[in-house]
Parts: sequence; structure tokens; C-alpha cells
Amino acid sequence: MFFTLSDIQLLSKKMKSMPRAISEELRGWNWHEPPLYPSSNTLLSVSDLTNGLCDSGRYVYLRHKVQAKSEAKVGSTVHEAYASAVENIKRLIYENGDIDGSRLRTLMTDEFYNLKVDLPELGKAIWDYATSVYSAELDKVRSKPFLRRESLVSLVVPFHVEYPVDGSLIGLQSSLRMDAFIPLLPLIAEMKTGSYKRDHELALAGYALAFESQFEVPVDLGYLCYVNVIQGKVVDNCRLIVIGDSLRQEFIELRDRGLRAIDDNVDPGLAKKCSNECPFLSYCRGF
Ligand code: SF4
Repeated sequence: MFFTLSDIQLLSKKMKSMPRAISEELRGWNWHEPPLYPSSNTLLSVSDLTNGLCDSGRYVYLRHKVQAKSEAKVGSTVHEAYASAVENIKRLIYENGDIDGSRLRTLMTDEFYNLKVDLPELGKAIWDYATSVYSAELDKVRSKPFLRRESLVSLVVPFHVEYPVDGSLIGLQSSLRMDAFIPLLPLIAEMKTGSYKRDHELALAGYALAFESQFEVPVDLGYLCYVNVIQGKVVDNCRLIVIGDSLRQEFIELRDRGLRAIDDNVDPGLAKKCSNECPFLSYCRGF
């Protein structure tokens, strides 16, 4: 998730060698035909559908019917620290054209105190890791001649965080935000904490379909990253995922099941096993 220019070059080579065959009817730009055409005007969030917390589909239903207590603190801290660190690094380079890695480190140390997260120690580990990666990149890139600030930023931090995409043509919210987007490839990256869940791959399918429906540009692969902090150290474990037919179909079925439950007001009932991270635990289970 802490992409540098050399990471992106390597990813580009790997992506080229990965076979994929995606049916035309499952491309986002075919949103006006079945199976993509949504049967309702309700708009869903990708993360509500694919967070992997609830196997009965009740989570999506409840999100539209009752107020959740609070989101998982670990996930929200990691996401906020990551997006804010990347954003601040870009801003500091724009504001200080002659900045080097050491100055960036100092300024980022001060900026950390403006970060509002539930778990500051966890947030600090992510923040410091991003600072260290991009300070080193800045020193590497600064030796190139005739760089405007815009060029410097695009070489040091060559991707976007919280990239907005409009999913309304395929029954998703108009203000979806991908965790990260690398426009050079193009590649959508989804950041998770904890361990692998199949549902997390479906999130990539949701964003790819939304992106294709909005821009009519194919997105064949996604990048699924687990970012955890273990004994104060950031461990970033990522894999490339082909967003093929089965993943796309599975996501559309999930979307349709969620839309039916909400529109017909049919509660899907309790999950077989409720995740401890689910914000509806007290509502559903009374604790
Ligand atoms: S508490 Fe259980 S049944 Fe209720 S939404 Fe969460 S996972 Fe689903």
C-alpha cells in the first residue's frame, strides 16, 4: 500500500504476465443490461457488502434500517492514519519545493499531533512507516534536474488515496472511495486489517465494476493488501487478484441480495457466526 515508483514498475511487469479473460456482459460499462442493471434505485456501499462480518446479509440490511454503534477502531485508525499521512506528505512537498527527506521527517513528526484516531499508537506506527518510505523516495528523486513541485510529488507518491468513484449506474453509492488507486497501471488497491477473507476480494470487483461503468476503461486486476502492526512494526502483505467473471458474478449476486432485503424489507436473520468486530452485536445479540 506504500507504493513507490519502483514498486509500480514491478507490479506492471507482474500484471502483464497474468492471464485473464473477462466476459463483455460483466464489464461495468454494460451497466444498462442484465446481469449488471440494478433492479432498484437503492444505492449500496461496497464496504457494507464485502466487509466479511456477516454471512447472512443482515449487516447490509441493518445499515439501512438502524444506526450502528461505531465502526471497528483498528480498521478506522489504520485507514485514517494511512490516508492522512500520504495526503500530508504530498502537501508538505507542494508547500516546500526545496524540501529533502530529513526535513520531511521533521515536519511529519509535528503533523502527527493533528491526527485524530481512536488508537494513537497504532496510528503512529502507520504514520512513521509512510514517512520513512516517502522521505527515502524524496531523497532519491530530488537529484533529477528541472523538477517542478507537481513532478516531484508525482514521482515520490505516484498514486492517490481515497480515490472517488461513482457507482450509481450499477446500484452502488455515488461517492465510493477506493483505498488507493494507481492511475499509471490502472490498479485499484484495497487495504484491510486482520487476516484474509474471500469477501475482501469481492470489494475489488465492486470498485472495478463502478470504475468501468463511470470511465469505460477496463480494470482487470486489483491489489488486496493486509496492513497490520505487529510489535510496533508495520507488516504489509499484498497480492494481485484477477477480477474475473466469477468474482464479478459473485459481487452482483451479493448486491442483488442486499437490494432485495432492503427494498422488500425482509430481514435476512442472524448470521451463523457473528464477527466480534460487527458494530451491530449489541442490536442483534444483546451484548
Ligand atoms: S451482529 Fe451478527 S447478525 Fe447482526 S449484523 Fe452483525 S454479524 Fe450480522
